[in-house]
Amino acid sequence: MHSSFFSPGPTTTEGQTASLHLSRDQLLPVKLSTIASKAEDQGYAEGVVTNTRFGSFPHSTLIDIPWGCQVLASKVDTGTRGRESFNQSRKRKANAISTDSPNDSAESAALKQATTATSGFIHVLPPTPESWTTSLPHRTQVVYTPDYSYVLQKIRAQPGSTLIEAGSGSGSFTHAAARAVFQGERPEEGREPTQGQKQSTGKVLTFEFHKERYEKVETEMREHGLDSIVTATHRDVYRDGFWLKEADGSYRSPNANCIFLDLPAPWEALPHLTRQGTPEKPSALDPSTTAYICTFSPCIEQVQKTVSTMRRHGWLEIEMVEIQHKRIEVKRAYTGLKYEGMRGVNPVAATVDEALDRLREVEANAKEHQRDTTGKSNKGKNGSQQNSSTESAVQKHWDEGILIHRAEPELKTHTSYLVFAILPREWTEEDEQAAIAQVRHDG
Ligand code: SAM
Repeated sequence: MHSSFFSPGPTTTEGQTASLHLSRDQLLPVKLSTIASKAEDQGYAEGVVTNTRFGSFPHSTLIDIPWGCQVLASKVDTGTRGRESFNQSRKRKANAISTDSPNDSAESAALKQATTATSGFIHVLPPTPESWTTSLPHRTQVVYTPDYSYVLQKIRAQPGSTLIEAGSGSGSFTHAAARAVFQGERPEEGREPTQGQKQSTGKVLTFEFHKERYEKVETEMREHGLDSIVTATHRDVYRDGFWLKEADGSYRSPNANCIFLDLPAPWEALPHLTRQGTPEKPSALDPSTTAYICTFSPCIEQVQKTVSTMRRHGWLEIEMVEIQHKRIEVKRAYTGLKYEGMRGVNPVAATVDEALDRLREVEANAKEHQRDTTGKSNKGKNGSQQNSSTESAVQKHWDEGILIHRAEPELKTHTSYLVFAILPREWTEEDEQAAIAQVRHDG
């Protein structure tokens, strides 16, 4: 399997998806291509160009370089120059990924000057489900990393699992699910495979009833090299359940072990997720393993309906969880910098003296306040000592910076209730007799 998500290889190649790292919180997913297929890519002599606020990046400078490289922005030509030759393109790439070198030839230095801008750069990273989630084209509300990482471990998604997902939506959860069931890299020559490598890669079966969203997820899976793991199906799961339809019209059980339902009415899909089945339409669940389910709903009323339907269908250990993820940013704030709105420091001074003045002012105000409230003066014999200790404290803060923190202003998670439950494996009279016989045999 060749996926830039799970096995990107050592260098970027034509056709792969890359995550352009613009800044800590800004990632831009791009399909690397030197062949302009869309109208907006056709005006450049350089071929396909990605324009960012850090400058323009012709894809010829992004392809065939080691993942993780820093690439400098290029000056691009919107058609006045002819299409550059392959050699020119290679030179541009060499210039863009390296810093100034004393060995630059006059020609390459001139080319560098003509094609690169000093201002901007990006890093070219292989995509991950996490980076995809933060930058994907939203078609619906999506499940974010704090939720899906918890969900995937709770429903025991692991290499070899068969995971049912409905609806596919924007494919955020789908990417993370694909990685969870993926078996991983083959072991190196002469090495023992790890436990994960011994198991075969599992499957994600994702269902979506909105035609365009289904088509988009299917295309994305192909483009991201995940189509051997993920099968997208266009289906109303409330009405038609999760069976796989064969070419001859017969139904096959997907034999699922894990289920994730991000649907407006999960209780309408639950009747298709029972142990009961008929020879024509067997149960969608793997009879030999416990099934683990999670539903994702924003309203408590939806949770109540889901839980009572789960109970009716024999699901056990039902519990509800809400993930409240909050990132706390801790920084050392130098008094010369302006950290507005951060706890502990107001818009701050530009020099040590200004910082000292500011602190003296704050302390004077505090003393004034104390005098007002207690009627006592704080001025006393150790006043000057206090001043010098204040000064040394400020000097220390100035040198080391003071620790300040703030909570992430915008929570990148959409609050929903997660309902978890399990359905024990099928247990027939024959299983019971076999178990009794086994116990007797073992003594
Ligand atoms: N979990 C997805 C993600 O992380 O990107 C987002 C799912 S979105 C909130 C819900 C999706 O369920 C929508 O795309 C909607 O079209 C789909 N849906 C709603 N009812 C459905 C049904 N009966 N069968 C299949 N899909 C359905």
